[in-house]
Amino acid sequence: GQLEEARRALDAPLFADVAGDATVSFEFFPPKTEKMEETLWASVQTLKILKPRFVSVTYGAGGSTRERTHNTVARIAKETDIPAAAHLTCVEASKAEIADVANAYWDDGVRHIVALRGDPPVAGAKFQAHPDGYQNAADLVAGLKKLHPFEISVAAYPECHPDSESAEFDLANLKAKFDAGADRAITQFFFSPEHYFRFCDKARAAGIDAEIVPGIMPVSNFAATQRMSAMCNTEVPAWMGRLFEGLDDHPGARQLVAATIAAEMCRRLYAGGVRQFHFYTLNRAELSFAICHLLGLRGDKAGLEKAA
Ligand code: FAD
Repeated sequence: GQLEEARRALDAPLFADVAGDATVSFEFFPPKTEKMEETLWASVQTLKILKPRFVSVTYGAGGSTRERTHNTVARIAKETDIPAAAHLTCVEASKAEIADVANAYWDDGVRHIVALRGDPPVAGAKFQAHPDGYQNAADLVAGLKKLHPFEISVAAYPECHPDSESAEFDLANLKAKFDAGADRAITQFFFSPEHYFRFCDKARAAGIDAEIVPGIMPVSNFAATQRMSAMCNTEVPAWMGRLFEGLDDHPGARQLVAATIAAEMCRRLYAGGVRQFHFYTLNRAELSFAICHLLGLRGDKAGLEKAA
């Protein structure tokens, strides 16, 4: 399997084996203020040099950022040549409301949706479908495909979604999303490549042959990451905590440590044959940019000159 392949390839000197043949995508969230919008836009400018396959913009819990997500995606689609993808959730929404959102994207030239169930507005509550809504992400994918021939990405969980009764059920749920028409999966973030490789091996064995792109979260705020990881069932290795110890007042060192950790994880994934990476940028470019650089990405010369 991929895990063995990774172990064999890891003997190479640090990053000497990367050939610049990886492709990447970047995830942003819709900005709340003008200042945040500037930061986001500067990040898009920095990262677009790396010729991402696509960039995506998240949808706030319960559709709370419907307008802002739309405006951000539409602006990227209009002002750059990067394919833009819009996240869309079906929590708290009727099928008619989803259709309105999806039709508006289609009319604005957006052809890629990241289709998700979403989480209930009250943290920890059990998901309940809207009475006139979609039952889950698979159902949403089928509904979107009926509206327009969108390219569709869905979520996958190498360490199992916290709501799932078992890892097998969760894998069957992922299969259902592909059967409904999804084109690729993007994973929840994780910190142990082994979890990802084992999950991919199981998915292949279950008949899933589509892309399962690892979602990379470059961590620089360890406390926040611990909180988030606990909510979504992601294991935080003890060694990672130790690497951030005593760095609270050293933002520069923290960034270097963060880049080292994420780059090392990407190196391991690359060694196991992974050539596609999706970065949770949190709207900051530098960390993701540095990691892509270590992965051998240089961007096009024209893009570099334009950016200068
Ligand atoms: P689903 O695939 O529907 O599955 C959720 C869980 O329910 C799984 O455990 C599944 O096994 C189980 N399940 C599904 N159907 C049934 C059924 N019929 N009976 C019993 N159990 C069932 N959230 C946002 O609000 N906005 C975003 O922009 C956003 N972007 C994301 C991007 C990525 C790449 C990822 C990984 C997650 C994102 N999320 C986002 C979070 C996501 O909305 C949550 O993880 C949510 O809890 C599950 O969504 P899903 O699409 O995976 O749901």
